[in-house]
Amino acid sequence: MNNAVVVTGAANGIGEAIARLLVERGWIVAGLDRDEPRLERLQQELGTAFVGVAGDVTRRSDHERARQVADGAGRLAGWVNNAGIERPTTARALDETDLQAIVQVNLIGTMLGCAVATEALRGAGGAIVNMSSIHSVAGFPESFVYAATKGGIDALTRQLAVEEAAHGIRCNAVRPGAVLTPLTQSFLDASDDPEALLAKYADLHPIRRLIEPVEIARVVAFLLSREASFVNGESITVDGGATARCYPFPG
Ligand code: NAD
Repeated sequence: MNNAVVVTGAANGIGEAIARLLVERGWIVAGLDRDEPRLERLQQELGTAFVGVAGDVTRRSDHERARQVADGAGRLAGWVNNAGIERPTTARALDETDLQAIVQVNLIGTMLGCAVATEALRGAGGAIVNMSSIHSVAGFPESFVYAATKGGIDALTRQLAVEEAAHGIRCNAVRPGAVLTPLTQSFLDASDDPEALLAKYADLHPIRRLIEPVEIARVVAFLLSREASFVNGESITVDGGATARCYPFPG
């Protein structure tokens, strides 16, 4: 029986890249996402190895459904809490609707995923991977709420790693820099000068380009695999050196 994994936010961007790579590597993927048309298209393309679960990560019952789908299709051995949203926020002009929305999806959605995943993986064991961001370790403009949710994800990842290790569950996170996805595209579309903003995103990384979603997916696949059997409680930064730099180098 193949290993199965739940991937949240699997319909687009980084989550889609994770789902595609894991299917390629023999996993059965239950993709939980609220974008039903995209889930259906992926299911048509990827066949029986991908099962779309239309739902919302802010509801525990939707995580439970994804668990059941994964359990029915294979041996549940992994869980990726990837779904997330980003909206510009500052403390000075805090919009409470944005505050609630970002915390609900990024933090509470991830915590509910972890709750259902730990329950499901206890016994047979497995690995959980949470999607953090470099915003968890460095300040960026208009990132007041988003940064806090990603810092929280790093903290709960460490916590879970310690709590669940004795039960055969490893828990790690990935911290991407700027990845070219529909989320990033929405910021480019909203900008007065998308080209300049794109160049700015690229220049953030000493490796001067945006990250491809598959470059994040490969790290997630590693963390889920036996190759990472002693990696636990880590948040792995994948940012081309962005947070290693604190001075604008010439050239
Ligand atoms: P995206 O918007 O391109 O895709 C996110 C997916 O999550 C979409 O399919 C969307 O439908 C789904 N989703 C959103 N809210 C949901 C909800 N409540 N329930 C179910 N599904 C929901 O985003 P992305 O850029 O691929 O980002 C994925 C993750 O990576 C997020 O956690 C994000 O914070 C993180 N991240 C992204 C970047 C980046 O530069 N794109 C950088 C660092 C971290």
